[in-house]
Amino acid sequence: SDSGIKFKRVLLKISGEALMGSQGYGLHPPTVERIASEVKSVHELGVEICMVIGGGNIFRGLSGSAQGMERTTADYMGMLATVMNALAMQGALESMGVYTRVVSAIPMDQVCEPYIRRRAVRHLEKKRVCIFAAGTGNPYFTTDTAATLRANEMACEAIFKGTKVDGVYDKDPVKHADAKRYDTVTYDEVLQKHLGVMDASAIALARDNNKPIIVFSLDEQGGFRGILSGQGTYTTVH
Ligand code: UDP
Repeated sequence: SDSGIKFKRVLLKISGEALMGSQGYGLHPPTVERIASEVKSVHELGVEICMVIGGGNIFRGLSGSAQGMERTTADYMGMLATVMNALAMQGALESMGVYTRVVSAIPMDQVCEPYIRRRAVRHLEKKRVCIFAAGTGNPYFTTDTAATLRANEMACEAIFKGTKVDGVYDKDPVKHADAKRYDTVTYDEVLQKHLGVMDASAIALARDNNKPIIVFSLDEQGGFRGILSGQGTYTTVH
């Protein structure tokens, strides 16, 4: 493929909320399918794809602990939520003929594979979409950190962070009409200005391993594929 595709292997990170559509909670199957078709169209370019999906549409550790649960217990519940989302995405992709594996940081053999790095690499080489579930497997982390960790381990060239807006802005573009989008921004600037791309541990882990983060809009149809072919608007954090 010589259609301007610069990437051989990428990681796509989406939040759990990206799967809930206009509902306030949970999974919205048509939305899951829409995102799966975006992934499929990139997969068809021959790009090897890792995915990390959050769990915030179902459960967040911090909100559980705010209601009096022990933080670690609440975080494990959050990690389990990401497994549900991963299974939903797997189902949608496979119904479109895209082979996938869900690999979990917390082993649950009846449900999906345990995460074994070399095995996951093999799946990618065989052009299977690898969905990394259960975050890092540790409480006090987020799926953004899990995404950065797996992108490093899998030697992805970049982390694609699909969001509701087409990049990183100096202030919330939904609230401020004069918000300015960065074409590029450094990791340190993101941290200093609290630009809210990902949490600080994820940004620091990406910075220390020179892993670019490309922030783009998931709402744009064909947007993911477009950006991989050098089109569209986005922000590169580098
Ligand atoms: N979580 C965790 N360790 C991890 C990843 C996730 O404990 O390595 C828990 C944490 O409670 C978090 C929840 O899983 O709130 C869901 O993940 P996240 O908030 O990152 O989801 P997103 O905001 O991307 O939907």
